[in-house]
Amino acid sequence: MDEQERRRRAERLKAARKRRRRKVMVNRVLAGLFLVALIFAIIAGIVLLNDYIKGPEPATPDPTWNTPAVAYNPTSTPTPSPTEAPTFTPTPSPVPEGVKRVAFTFDDGPDYNGLTLKFAEKLASYGGKGTWFIIGNRVNDENRGDLKKAAELGMEIGIHAWTHDYYFDRNPDLLADELQKTSDIIYEVTGKRPTLFRPPGGNFTDKQVTEISYPVILWSVDTEDWKNKGNKTEEERSDNVQRIVDNIMRNTRDGSIVLMHEIYNNSYDAFCIAIDQLAKEGYIFVSVPELIGDELLPGHKYTSWYYR
Ligand SMILES: [Zn+2]
Repeated sequence: MDEQERRRRAERLKAARKRRRRKVMVNRVLAGLFLVALIFAIIAGIVLLNDYIKGPEPATPDPTWNTPAVAYNPTSTPTPSPTEAPTFTPTPSPVPEGVKRVAFTFDDGPDYNGLTLKFAEKLASYGGKGTWFIIGNRVNDENRGDLKKAAELGMEIGIHAWTHDYYFDRNPDLLADELQKTSDIIYEVTGKRPTLFRPPGGNFTDKQVTEISYPVILWSVDTEDWKNKGNKTEEERSDNVQRIVDNIMRNTRDGSIVLMHEIYNNSYDAFCIAIDQLAKEGYIFVSVPELIGDELLPGHKYTSWYYR
């Protein structure tokens, strides 16, 4: 094999390699194009299948179909849905800076020995108000005048019960009857329908709270005056009164609702001591509606201003 022959052979081999490389490249390009086409085909297939499953798009409705027969009247008041929670705007507190408020409440009256009016006059002497939760069937010819005067002094008279039966809440009809009769007697004596209710013993379920047409008023300070009412000796009387005073002074803070009973002399004596001390500490004495303000609503319960 001479030099020329070897060169020709090498050139042929080179040309053959070049052709192979070109062929491989063409094959790769074709494979790439085929892959792209395949992906497109798959996507198109999915879209078409999807459209087929959904069915044809609905025709665009004639816009006049949506026009109500009667034009919307913006001045008409929309009726709120019954499930909607009542909305209210809390008014800014009118309480001046540094003034603390406490709402004394008096249960189980009207008293048979004149304490109703004594409590009311004591509060009035401080320019204050309080809230009574009375038992309807205790109103008699002797005490109705005092109850009327208490209301005239600005005291709030609310419903406790007609009979103070701790179990009446188990019977909705009996509850409705007790509420109505007590409201009637309060209206008869004071000329004003009561707007507040305190269940005897605070014995009321959350479901009942939502169903009743009065705000349910509980308390945040229990004076336990009902535990400290009996006096065998003068010393015992003094101790009992002091315990009630201590319960008030230790637990009362700005916004408290204090539970007392207006039918015990010890309660009155303790109240006179406590109210004097509280006034010196900057407290004013307000009724429950004054304390809670616009947020006082039926279907809710209140134990104080801070846990309303
Ligand atoms: Zn009671």
